[in-house]
Amino acid sequence: MRYISTRGTAPEIGFCDVLLAGLARDGGLYVPQTWPASAKSADEKFEASYAQRAASIMAPFIGDEIDAKVFQQLCVDAYSTFRHPDVAPLIEIAPDEYLLELFHGPTLAFKDVALQLVGKLFDHVLAQRNERVMIVGATSGDTGGAAFDGVASCRNVDIVMLYPNNRVSDVQRRQMTTLTASNVHAVAIDGTFDDCQDLVKAMFNDQKFRDANQLSAVNSINLVRVMAQVVYYFTALEKLGDSAVFSVPTGNFGNVLAGWIAKQMGASIDGFVVASNTNDILTRFFESQQMTANEVVPTLSPSMDIQVSSNFERLLFEMNNRDGDLTAKQLTEFRSTGELIVAQSNYAKWITGVFTGYRCNDEQTLTTMKDVYQQTGMLIDPHTAVGLSAARQSIGVNYPKNQSIITLATAHPAKFPEAVCRATGQTPELPEHLADLMSRPERIISLPNNLKSVQAFVAKCR
Ligand SMILES: *Cc1c(COP(=O)(O)O)cnc(C)c1O
Repeated sequence: MRYISTRGTAPEIGFCDVLLAGLARDGGLYVPQTWPASAKSADEKFEASYAQRAASIMAPFIGDEIDAKVFQQLCVDAYSTFRHPDVAPLIEIAPDEYLLELFHGPTLAFKDVALQLVGKLFDHVLAQRNERVMIVGATSGDTGGAAFDGVASCRNVDIVMLYPNNRVSDVQRRQMTTLTASNVHAVAIDGTFDDCQDLVKAMFNDQKFRDANQLSAVNSINLVRVMAQVVYYFTALEKLGDSAVFSVPTGNFGNVLAGWIAKQMGASIDGFVVASNTNDILTRFFESQQMTANEVVPTLSPSMDIQVSSNFERLLFEMNNRDGDLTAKQLTEFRSTGELIVAQSNYAKWITGVFTGYRCNDEQTLTTMKDVYQQTGMLIDPHTAVGLSAARQSIGVNYPKNQSIITLATAHPAKFPEAVCRATGQTPELPEHLADLMSRPERIISLPNNLKSVQAFVAKCR
């Protein structure tokens, strides 16, 4: 299997290079030359563990770059850190209405599903190549902790994550600052998330600095993260024993894109509900076939407070019938004008009947959390609530009343205790392995919003 860039000019590369590169050199995102078909017999599925299913579903992406037995062991190791034996359990909350719980990993967000495996893959590939990398990234909350946990035990990886000072939750900050591993470094930047992201981009654009420090990335445009998320769409449908619609709380479009890839591979998915909070650029796109950027508004579901969904580029590339030049042109135009319009015929072919978009404001988020608590006694987190609200809005409009619909539950309620308490009056408890999180000593590093200071710090951490 070879990989090409969505902007058409970067040379094609293999799986291990895609893992380490993150972004292509022409600024595009990697996709496989063709989407593979899933080819496993039905009886094999039911006996297999999540890790075994994961290894066989992802096998065509890896080809012969990693030995199949070795890869299966990496999957076993990655998913042994999850607290639930199913890894991603499917829970029925009402007739035909399900939650797929993706938050049983070490840092309580669905990002663990991909980043636990990515950490194992980095360790394996770097040891084989006898290389060492410095991962740098920006986090608005959940990615930092999940990436740290994923790579903390890697021998050949250092990682620096920039987060906006005073703009992540206490739980999120502490998941980064209380780790004792010497290769992980959280840095509070005196600025916003966008400032952090600009600093990271500037480090990557400084070719000399980038090469001297062997910079690498694990942000959500890394295709290997998306690939690892394809797996739970298959396992959910196997558990359900039927086709289903998925409702996906969406920020960078990585999670819902993974579902779309599962569908390309043959998963029996009836459609996707793309759930947004007040930052509803995608909902407006699905309403108007036109993408227009707005200012970011802070909400109760901060991991979805994003104005431009970077992974959308991969779907756009497909909508352009894989024309990289056209994709590059549209995105450059979007950057300068804030507007992107797609051709009617491409929209009809790729989007109509597959994707619908719904939005859910903070008030609806709180109401949904309260309704679920009253209906089932369960506490759900605000991101999951946005997904469930969108699912409920779509039933009876886009789908019949008896349509099976699975909402992805992307975070544990204890990660967002204030919002949960405001909605239900209940304070969710942190799982046992994090019970003392709020009393652990923190290692806080603060830096000004200044490229030179950050570069000096990164160089020192190697
Ligand atoms: C990152 C995140 C999302 C958004 O996922 P994307 O793949 O960026 O669309 C949703 N919910 C939670 C809890 C997250 O951490």
